[in-house]
This record gives sequence, structure tokens and C-alpha cells, in this order.
Amino acid sequence: MSNQRTELEKLGEFGLIDHLTKDFVNQNPSTSCGIGDDAAVISISDDEAKLISTDMLIEGVHFNLMYMPLKHLGYKAVAVNVSDICAMNGTAEQITVSIAVSNRFPVEALEELYEGIRTACSIYNVDLIGGDTTSSLSGLSISITAIGSAKKKDIAYRSGAKENDLLVTTGDLGAAYMGLQILEREKVVYNENPDIQPDLDGHDYIIERQLKPEARKDIILFLKELGVKPTSMIDISDGLASEIMHLCKASNVGCHVYDEKIPIDAKTSMTALEFNLDPSTCALNGGEDYELLFTVPQSDFEKVKGNPHMSIIGHMTNEADGIYFIDKSGSSLELKAQGWSHLND
Ligand code: ADP
Ligand code: MG
Repeated sequence: MSNQRTELEKLGEFGLIDHLTKDFVNQNPSTSCGIGDDAAVISISDDEAKLISTDMLIEGVHFNLMYMPLKHLGYKAVAVNVSDICAMNGTAEQITVSIAVSNRFPVEALEELYEGIRTACSIYNVDLIGGDTTSSLSGLSISITAIGSAKKKDIAYRSGAKENDLLVTTGDLGAAYMGLQILEREKVVYNENPDIQPDLDGHDYIIERQLKPEARKDIILFLKELGVKPTSMIDISDGLASEIMHLCKASNVGCHVYDEKIPIDAKTSMTALEFNLDPSTCALNGGEDYELLFTVPQSDFEKVKGNPHMSIIGHMTNEADGIYFIDKSGSSLELKAQGWSHLND
């Protein structure tokens, strides 16, 4: 350790992870895939593997208890972890839950948190198998680890996209971000005058997308039924732009993504316009959608086309061609992931 001091923001989240882990070498043949994907892959037999993923949620950083009911928080903490197992094309089966909690919280509050965790366990068919409980000086932290399984031949890594593959997203994007904007706006109003009731009317969909996101476990089943195995896959936690860049970087390909093809719900667009925001920018950089982003070979076009849960938004190109966003006027803009260099999640 030298006297040198480097600020975290100089490296950013992903730069920091790379920096801290670059000198680790896997020593066990069972470690099929370590750091760098949505979940680690542990080989357990010739054709079966376990998938493991961890996500931590911190009060004041990832959630604000002023508008996040504890029941929803518990549900969301499980869903975001199940989402990472889905992103490997696997099935989540168990979770461990670790909490750090200050004496600001009564037992009843934690019961509510666990009610949400229990609901999610039942919806996603996962078992709570352990965890850890400790005290914290301030606030609440929750760290969940999800364990899943998959046949090795079915696992979709971030690194498998090929030139000319189609880029597909599920659901619609940007809604969770706009939901957060509404909740933040009403928080400010409330702080200024607690007598004013929050005005959330007409924003149910986007608020629900923020407070109670779902892992797209249903998509994993649809893909199986359709006989489609994605060549690469990631879940959209940090915004479409950032996830496209992860797929491209891991797969050594470029990409063309078309603005007019990005699925955005009318309620998201309307709210974005209310806030003077461009709806596409919200979809690209908003985050917390927990939809799946994947690539399929052109030969699967007929199987994916017209599926109400899936939108083809672009195609992969040669790495040297770069990563481009084609706007509605047909101009190409080089895609840059916002928040790329900030340690903000
Ligand atoms: P996701 O957004 O899918 O949850 P992350 O961006 O959080 O993935 O993490 C990317 C990769 O880096 C994952 O493989 C994760 O396990 C790994 N990772 C993140 N933080 C650390 C850490 N502090 N030490 C080791 N590995 C880490
Ligand atoms: Mg992920």
C-alpha cells in the first residue's frame, strides 16, 4: 500500500471491479465462469451447472423508505436477484438473505420486509435457505444471493453474440425510471408541505415498475417453448445503453440499435414529456427495468417476430463498426452509457 490516493470515481463501478479482481486466478475446475456475467457458473456434472448471483440494496442509495414500503422492498430484493439467474437462461431455486439493521426499526418493520420476501419466494418458486443478521449504525442494508440451476448447453453468457445476430428486448423500457421521478417529485412536495397529499394519480403503472419490478422468469419458459436459445443475454438493471455495451464488449461485436424500435409504454412517454425528458433517453439510461436483453441468430427471426413480449431493436455488427444508436431521423449517434464512470449503484 503506497501513500497514493485514487478517488473511486476515477475508476467507476466496472473499472473498480476489474481493478480489484484482475489478479485472481480461478483454482478449481468446477469454476466454469467467475466474475463478469450476471451470475457465476459452477459445474456440478458433465451437463449440469449451478448459477450464483449476489446483489446488495442500501437504504438511501437504492431505496428510500419514505416511498418504498418494506413489503415491496423485500419483494424487489428477491426479484432483482432472480432476474440475474434468468439472464443466464437458468432457474432460480434458493436464496440467502443477509440484513444489517439499526435499532430505528421495530420487529414489525422487519416482519413486513420478510412478508415481501416470502411473497417473492412463492411467486418465483425459490426457497429461503439461510443468511445473516447484524446491526448497523444507521439504516437498512439487504444483500441477497440467488442460487439457480441450468443445463450447461442452455446457459446464455454475455459473451456469445455474433455479428448479424438480432438484438431483442422483452417488455417495455424506461418506466421504472419515470416512476422514480414521480416519487421523487412528490417527496419534495411533501417535505415542503406535509399537508399536501401525494399526487400519484394516473401513474400506477410506472410507480409499480419502480416499486415492484418482476424478474422475467416467464420469458425463460417462452424461449424454451419457442425452441430459441439466445446467443447472449443480460438483464437490464442499469439502462439499455449500459447493457448493450456489456454485451458488445463481452462478445467483441458492434451494434446498431434503432430508436423507433425501442418499446416504451405510452404512460412512460407521457410522463417523460411532462418532465421535459426525451423518452428514449429514459429507456437508454434510466435503469431498473429488469427486462431481458438478448441476441438470437437471424434464423430465429420468425420465432421471435410478432411475439408480444419481445421487440427486435437492432442487430449486432462487426466490432470495428462500433456501437450506434440510429435516431428517428436516421442519424447515427455513437452510444455512450451514461453513469458508466460513476459509482452510483
Ligand atoms: P449485475 O449488474 O448483473 O448484478 P454487476 O455489474 O453488479 O452485475 O457485476 C458484474 C460482475 O462483477 C459480476 O460477475 C459480479 O459478481 C462481479 N462483482 C461485482 N462486485 C464484485 C466484488 N466486489 N468482488 C468481486 N466480484 C464482484
Ligand atoms: Mg444483471
